Amino acid sequence: MGNKYFAHFCTITKHRWIVFKLCCRAGIPWRGLVHDLSKYSPTEFIESAKFYQGIRSPIPVARNVQGYSKAWLHHKGRNKHHIEYWYDPEVPDKFPIIPYKYAVEMICDGLAAGIVYNGKNWTPSTQLRYWEYKRKTALANERIKDLLTEVYTQVSKYGINKTINPKNLKKLYNQYCIEDNENKES
Ligand SMILES: [Zn+2]
Repeated sequence: MGNKYFAHFCTITKHRWIVFKLCCRAGIPWRGLVHDLSKYSPTEFIESAKFYQGIRSPIPVARNVQGYSKAWLHHKGRNKHHIEYWYDPEVPDKFPIIPYKYAVEMICDGLAAGIVYNGKNWTPSTQLRYWEYKRKTALANERIKDLLTEVYTQVSKYGINKTINPKNLKKLYNQYCIEDNENKES
């Protein structure tokens, strides 16, 4: 019992450390420092420790058993690096374009989660394959989806170091989320 709590604490902390390193590389160290802090709150921590898996997220398991995950509902409402935070079916723009720093934090989060859960089996194309599967049901702005596909494709081709840096990420964000948008409006 106590073991699961300790193991879950280690998984969160290890994940946050990898996100922090990636966010520093991406030029958004502060986002890396405060990433996923709500996972230490009782609402998220206790449920996720109870359904601890080690090699994958406890959230789908909690959903299976309980019908919903209280940890996830708490998490997505407080963390702007999740596409679900921005989705609101009640407003005209249901899927807004996520601001740059949170979009980049999301990219670092995805890569870090893949690295932690896959361990030695991780390859530069792990995240692209995972995202292509997730994309089918993701409720997000198409531009943001295209940005993620492009970034993860670049990681699979050129690796993390060449892809995750401020110059490349700003260029891609402008290209996918800003330039086209302005053209569309004018
Ligand atoms: Zn998160």
